[in-house]
Amino acid sequence: MKKNYFYLALAMTLLTGKGYAQEPCATSDVHNEFLKKSESVGIFERMLNESTASYIASHSEHAMTSAKTTAAHSDTDYYDIPVVVHIIHNYGSELVSDSIVHVMIDQMNAFYNAQNNLSTIIPPFVPYIGNAKIRFHLATKDPMGQQTTGITHKFSYLTYGGDDQAKVGQWPPRSYMNIWVENVIGRGIGVGTVLAYAVLPPSAEAFPYSDGVISIASRLTDNNTIPHETGHYFNLYHPWNSGAGVGEVCGDDEVDDTPPTKGHFSLCRNPQELYDTTCAFNYFKMYTSASGSVDSLVNYPDTTNTQNLMDYSQCSQSMITKGQVWRMRGALNSNIGGRNNLWDSANLVLTGALDPYPDMVPVPDFVSRQGTSPISEISRFTYPNSYLFFTNKSWRDTVTSVKWTFSNGAEDPTPVHTSVIDLRTRFSNRFSEPGWVDIKMEVEGNNSGTGTKEFKKIVFVADNEGRDPAGYLQEFNEDGDRDKWPTFNFYENSNKWQLANTGVYDGTSMMYQGFDTRTGLELLTNTPIGDYDDMYSIPFDLTSFGSGECNLNFFFAGASKTASSDNINDSLTIEYAVNKSQSWKTLKVMKKGELCNNGATSEAFVPTSPSNWSPMTISIPTAARTDYVVFRFRYKPGGIPAGSNPVTISSGNNFYIDRLNISQWTADVSTVDMTNADVKVVPNPTHGDAYVVIKASGSTTADIVVSDITGKIVYTTTENLSSNTSRVKIPHDVIATQGIYLIQTTTGKQVSTNKLVVY
Ligand SMILES: [Zn+2]
Repeated sequence: MKKNYFYLALAMTLLTGKGYAQEPCATSDVHNEFLKKSESVGIFERMLNESTASYIASHSEHAMTSAKTTAAHSDTDYYDIPVVVHIIHNYGSELVSDSIVHVMIDQMNAFYNAQNNLSTIIPPFVPYIGNAKIRFHLATKDPMGQQTTGITHKFSYLTYGGDDQAKVGQWPPRSYMNIWVENVIGRGIGVGTVLAYAVLPPSAEAFPYSDGVISIASRLTDNNTIPHETGHYFNLYHPWNSGAGVGEVCGDDEVDDTPPTKGHFSLCRNPQELYDTTCAFNYFKMYTSASGSVDSLVNYPDTTNTQNLMDYSQCSQSMITKGQVWRMRGALNSNIGGRNNLWDSANLVLTGALDPYPDMVPVPDFVSRQGTSPISEISRFTYPNSYLFFTNKSWRDTVTSVKWTFSNGAEDPTPVHTSVIDLRTRFSNRFSEPGWVDIKMEVEGNNSGTGTKEFKKIVFVADNEGRDPAGYLQEFNEDGDRDKWPTFNFYENSNKWQLANTGVYDGTSMMYQGFDTRTGLELLTNTPIGDYDDMYSIPFDLTSFGSGECNLNFFFAGASKTASSDNINDSLTIEYAVNKSQSWKTLKVMKKGELCNNGATSEAFVPTSPSNWSPMTISIPTAARTDYVVFRFRYKPGGIPAGSNPVTISSGNNFYIDRLNISQWTADVSTVDMTNADVKVVPNPTHGDAYVVIKASGSTTADIVVSDITGKIVYTTTENLSSNTSRVKIPHDVIATQGIYLIQTTTGKQVSTNKLVVY
């Protein structure tokens, strides 16, 4: 049934496309992109084709007799290949078990030793069935010489179509065949139609960071996809290799016993397709000797090899021809792409490829989610006595029991899970004490021992009561309660919320590291695009605001890396959730110029002047004015969409946020001095005029005295007050000198002193 689904998807694409189908294998597209990126790829391709021709000439029975030489490595030998499988996952279905990987390796070995079911190969091609004699082994030693099962796990957003950028954690490609596993391949328009792709050896030589095979997880064991990509990995082309899409024009793959073809998309059930003579009629090859005379003539089948592993026909049984075996051997004996080092005896020792497969202790791992959240959403923020759901994701061995230890007054601090259902199914837990939660897992493997891991500060429990925001100002300095504003760098990369030693006034603020620090070759993998990172506020009680003005205020300083506004795709989403729920409602999305108030800079942005900071005021809706509301700040780094796909170049830069508060005043007013609620000076800092804003006080006049930092009076005025809020101007010319001024405001019997910063 799964195959039917696949072909339905392809048929849809064929019908809707413009004659150029989105193909299930993107190897040709990727190779063409590499050819465009570097002319060395074309040079390597010619060199490898030439050395392959010469290898075949000296080994194949169809090659001229006189040129045959005695090669050190005879054509009957087996080639052993060390393999490492990297599972790039977000704890979804793409997080396949080790046993799936083992089945995949078994299938590769079957195809490459002619041990797959070949009983329905049509008679004309039976004589051409090749046995590649290539054996695949999961490595048992990693690049550091440590023991391994040859399977790695990487928790990453890149599983959603990161493609080449998802090829993180590559092991040296001349020593290991790297295979990556994603949830979805994102290449091209039709996301979801591409199943996998490989990097041909000439591209691998020029772009070693990309070298390997990448596949969607659901195709690891379908019997065709990975063996097909493995053929590309050893330099096989698609049989039509025409430069056009499959089924369009006749082409040839530089292998003699795979007749020219247009290629096929089908279920391989149609006899006409199995005996398709299009392009192949009257196909033969003449082989000449060194003197130019005909050495031999071979009349190959006059029908296409639809059942070939490298066609898209995806027949339930498919073959590799003898000629393809020769071509792969040519690649295996060339240093272009380093395939000749893989099976080298010294490399087999270093990678432990031929050593017994180890039984290693499990690696403890888990995922926590809300009960209702989508599978892609990891949750590590919760409320006292609210349920959070935990699922055991330990791996590297068959797990027989898990002992969990939770801090923070967990409801059931030491549940031991031993049943199969318990080990796989999520269970809920809740915490009575606020603050960071530590979790310890002790995971027992099947005869291998116990793996233990402590996850420190992995979950945060908010305070139980909402705080009255009157007088509250979050400046992220050590005197405040910044520890109660948790930040989460889910994917443990360099893009994250972190404290910064620059701020509006006090030299501290919270910064989102949006500046992409990768350079040079590092840009080939691990893009931050697709990442997101969260910061949460403390809970507030906003009931006192009633239906009056109620604003979320802060100062911010941002910039972009790209000068083109169209290309700024970073965003900061500010949300709220009330009454200890996880139902997050969007309050505001800051993007483009609003997010990047300091324009573009190619350097990592650091605010150095008060003028870099802008006030932001967001009106808080009535629905949020409950006795318990939390704000979430989710930053998503963006990328420049033009050019390559997937996007590799990030657009954003560092973003700073400071002086967060909730007030009836706007940001420029409210952050000056929260204790003087009746008198404010705005804007502050200022570069021009300033205003003293005075709430109705019952007094009809106000006396204002402005003095500089030395105590010298620079301005005085007496103003009549209205019955509402009044604004009294302090002209720029009296505060023209940069520095700090004190403003004393007397209304009736009340005296307020405010600090004003002029830059
Ligand atoms: Zn392919």
